[in-house]
Amino acid sequence: MPSLTRAEATSRAALIAVDAMEVDLDLDRGAEVFWSRTTIRFTCRAPGATTFVDLRPRVLHSVTLNGRPLDPASVVDGRLDLADLAADNVLEVVATMGYSHDGQGLHRSTDPADGEDYVYGHLFLDAAPTVFACFDQPDLKSPYTVAVTAPEDWTVLGNGGATVVAPGRTELATTAPLATYFVTVCAGPYASVRAEHDGIPLGVHARRSLEPHLLEQAEHMLQTTRACFDYYHRLFGIRYPFGEYHQVFVPEFNAGAMENPGCVTFRDTMVFRGAATPDQVLARSNTIAHEMAHMWFGDLVTMSWWDDLWLNESFAEYMAYRAVVEVTEFRDAWVEFGVGRKLWGYAAERAPSTHPVAGSPAPDALSALGNFDGISYAKGASVIRQLIAHIGDEAFVEGVVAYLRAHSFGNGELTQFLGAMESASGRSLATWSAAWLETAGADRLFLEADVLVRNPPPAHPADRPHTLDVAAFAGGREVARVDVAVSGSRTTVPGLGAVPSGALVVPNAADLTWAEVSLDPETVAALPAELAGVPDALARAVLWVALLGAVHRAEVDPRLALDVFTGAWPSESSSAVLSRTSLAMTSEVVPMFLPSAEQDAALARVAGAADVLIERASGVDGPDGDALAVVAARVWARSGSDTARLRRWADGDGIPAVLDADADFRWAVLRRLASLDALSENDIELAEAADRSLAGSLAALGVRAVRPTVEAKQWAWAALRDDTELTNYAALAVAGGFWVTRDPELVRPYVEQVGDLVVGLSARMGDDAVSRVVTAIHPTQLVDDSTAAASAALLERRDLTPGVRRALVDADHELREALASRRRFDPAATPGDRP
Ligand SMILES: [Zn+2]
Repeated sequence: MPSLTRAEATSRAALIAVDAMEVDLDLDRGAEVFWSRTTIRFTCRAPGATTFVDLRPRVLHSVTLNGRPLDPASVVDGRLDLADLAADNVLEVVATMGYSHDGQGLHRSTDPADGEDYVYGHLFLDAAPTVFACFDQPDLKSPYTVAVTAPEDWTVLGNGGATVVAPGRTELATTAPLATYFVTVCAGPYASVRAEHDGIPLGVHARRSLEPHLLEQAEHMLQTTRACFDYYHRLFGIRYPFGEYHQVFVPEFNAGAMENPGCVTFRDTMVFRGAATPDQVLARSNTIAHEMAHMWFGDLVTMSWWDDLWLNESFAEYMAYRAVVEVTEFRDAWVEFGVGRKLWGYAAERAPSTHPVAGSPAPDALSALGNFDGISYAKGASVIRQLIAHIGDEAFVEGVVAYLRAHSFGNGELTQFLGAMESASGRSLATWSAAWLETAGADRLFLEADVLVRNPPPAHPADRPHTLDVAAFAGGREVARVDVAVSGSRTTVPGLGAVPSGALVVPNAADLTWAEVSLDPETVAALPAELAGVPDALARAVLWVALLGAVHRAEVDPRLALDVFTGAWPSESSSAVLSRTSLAMTSEVVPMFLPSAEQDAALARVAGAADVLIERASGVDGPDGDALAVVAARVWARSGSDTARLRRWADGDGIPAVLDADADFRWAVLRRLASLDALSENDIELAEAADRSLAGSLAALGVRAVRPTVEAKQWAWAALRDDTELTNYAALAVAGGFWVTRDPELVRPYVEQVGDLVVGLSARMGDDAVSRVVTAIHPTQLVDDSTAAASAALLERRDLTPGVRRALVDADHELREALASRRRFDPAATPGDRP
């Protein structure tokens, strides 16, 4: 199905304007299909002209344009031509549409816990025509009037406030003008907590089987919501414009959340059913704040075309962290941004798929999907922080407000945004924008004595000005901190001469700029002993990101990262640093960068560090001790190989009290046992019987896939290839376990089959869903020349969708980074690295 091109969107927007959308859905027609009746009122600037409407029905029953019937058979590739338009037009479409099972469109799923069905609409990025006929592009906005027929015991929610007008019949209030991609309807026997704040009706909702957890956690979510509404109202001086504000936690959701005005959808793993570490709660609060920021950035003012999606995402990312730091308990949220989001962003920047923050080419809608990445989020937000350092916060806020006011309920683009900033600051931003927004690539920053050197990437040269600081730490104290304005290639940093030898010197210590920092050799050598003593969590995060970046760039031996981990991690206090760095060790540094022969011993050292932290946690009272115990136990459950202890843990024996009866933790332990070939099918069936939830059934799929046997891998591959009922989450669970093995020969025969599998999945899943599965299906963890050759051959295929190609390019790059590191630090073990 062809994706709408930018040229088509431009000419359609020049020809027509949509005045009103009326959508009537009947969700009470069984589990496979629903009825959809759409009435579109639109005007045409050139009567007599032709355009087309987008629709992807299962069965098209009737179409009339201005009372004139059109032939339902004339829909081609999801488009129906509308000829001989009048100045004022009415299009009426009646169709049977299909539910989706990949999280794109109107998704329907059955909760295995109680057999109840749930429906939610996720019309991003181009799925609206699978729910109703429309002109599917972000700059043809219209008010929506939606009505829904559904089973009587269902709750129906949507962008406008809901009124039940008859049993099983709900009408949603007519909305302010909305873009097609953020229209939603959520329906099912959802459990709800309702409240009100500052005249705004609030609701949080989740599947009924999650109700006890929702009731426990709703007040915290609502508190964050109230605080953010107050903050954004103060900052922007523009009232939230979309009536009620509902937050619906939905099953099998691909992204973290989606900013549908008035009815935000979230992945429902954010309603925690077991222990949650502070950084998990922070991530949820941050997501709440992010989606709320979108009500202004994205929803009130929408990018005109997908090439300016940074105007949505970079701003929501920046504003959310700013709000969370200002008005929630997470005053140190920038640490999580540094060690989580920026680690992700720098990896994206190193990949061949890197692109500028603004104006990345998006010749058609689908090709923009790949740009929802670490560049548009983490780099974009960092660049906004640099913009504020450049023009001052007052001018920035003034410019933002002017931009929002000028384009309310409409669309905006880069030049309009920059114009508002230039007016507010009284400065030209042309050079600044060219360097930071319109050129890809991260500068490398490093110190030569007291000179800070800025090396632009050769492929993306630009004169990026940086505002940052350099700090030095020795003996557990900060011994220097100097603010620096970097321009050109060499900048002297005064005051570094007095820093004692053996100190850690940290460029960009407050993490204000966007640059890959290379640490000087003395600092690198001192890290294992000194990192734990650095009193500033943000500087520790910067040091970790610099170290992990150097491992990925094959500049530092991965064994040194392991030494730093065992030396510093067990005494770390930041929840975000604990979680992210341990994940980097167990998912990347050990399995990809170390040779196979060393991986067992390395994992044993990781488990040893986890044991040290478990011991330390037992001496810390209250929630702080619990938080340490949870992350330590989770890391041990990924790295320990003492099967007797794992078995005791699976029985709940000897685990930290905070993890008692924590089903997700139990599954993590079972997964490790399965990967060590120490779990029988009977054990798995018993565990499933004890946990009939959706999370339990997905975990069981993962546990079955990690088993290191020929039969288990055959089963997993066949499930991915042949099971057409596999949902997006189920496919991800199976794919995520498949390559896990200590014996590469067990899975090597499948490397050559990856391409056909991916193309097969692509035929039955949407691009957003399948690209996530593809990332897990790529054999990134089999680091050798033959896999690299197979991976390169994959990219030559002509039958890949843009989302799949992008996922494969990025996975291929990760594989190549690991291969380059092994070549440098283990020349004898490469290229084959076979036992
Ligand atoms: Zn967003």
